[in-house]
Amino acid sequence: MSAELEFKPRIVGFLCNWCCYGGADLCGVSRFQYPPYLRVIRLMCSGRVDLSFILRAFSNGTDGVFIGGCHLNDCHYNTEGNYDALNVMHLCKKLLENVGVNPDRLRLEWVSAGEGIRFAEVMNDFARKIRALGPLGKSEGIGQNELQSKVAEITKLVPYIKIVCQDKLASRLQTPEEYDGLFTQNDIEKLFREVVSYYIDPTKCRACSICLKKCPADAIVGGKNHIHVIDQEKCMKCGSCFEACPTRFGAVRKVSGEPVPPPIPEQARIIARKSKEDAM
Ligand code: SF4
Ligand code: SF4
Repeated sequence: MSAELEFKPRIVGFLCNWCCYGGADLCGVSRFQYPPYLRVIRLMCSGRVDLSFILRAFSNGTDGVFIGGCHLNDCHYNTEGNYDALNVMHLCKKLLENVGVNPDRLRLEWVSAGEGIRFAEVMNDFARKIRALGPLGKSEGIGQNELQSKVAEITKLVPYIKIVCQDKLASRLQTPEEYDGLFTQNDIEKLFREVVSYYIDPTKCRACSICLKKCPADAIVGGKNHIHVIDQEKCMKCGSCFEACPTRFGAVRKVSGEPVPPPIPEQARIIARKSKEDAM
């Protein structure tokens, strides 16, 4: 038996409840054959597939990710979530390419609930292609662990990427040519080149803890009468602390194109309040 045939890839499939999941169900009921190693995750809409879901699947060593939704303009919600899925897929392919993952490992298809046979055909074809690529990292010529950690790094940046790309992610294009140009390699390089970090200026922080409460990543360390600091390892670069810090303090700074200053030592973080007014 050839190595390609022996290899049983891990494929995760995000299927929308109304169409593709129905197609998969019909496929099973009709006894059409498709690879047994597809792990299905049912979602109400393909538009619910967050960029982080796909990247996390790859950072966990998945060999292929499939997204199945309703045909365009057939979305069951007036948000037309399948256009969102299409935009996310185009962005994600470029991000994967940038870190060295073969973008063919990600595939999106429209399958209606009546297209059981089409579901089987698409899945058989995708599985054949993933088997030919081999385990994650093989066709890329990069060790699997190295590739997984590179993907994990960009997964941490998803909130930042979504903020920077929000206009393009909300676009509604019509032709494949338009989609081909939606995200360019230049856009992605610029995205990483201009990545913004956040830093709390110890001379301005008044330890009000507003930023700490807003941080979704538990990345801010601080307490009563203690200058707050950002743990850069945990920070997702969402910018919530920058927005939340009261303008009268203006303690959170954006840092781009230069190293983030190191946090001040623990013993230097205590704020000595002189009076009640100084407390706030
Ligand atoms: S940018 Fe600020 S709020 Fe967002 S994760 Fe980083 S420290 Fe937390
Ligand atoms: S919101 Fe601003 S002043 Fe308040 S703790 Fe955070 S950085 Fe310091």
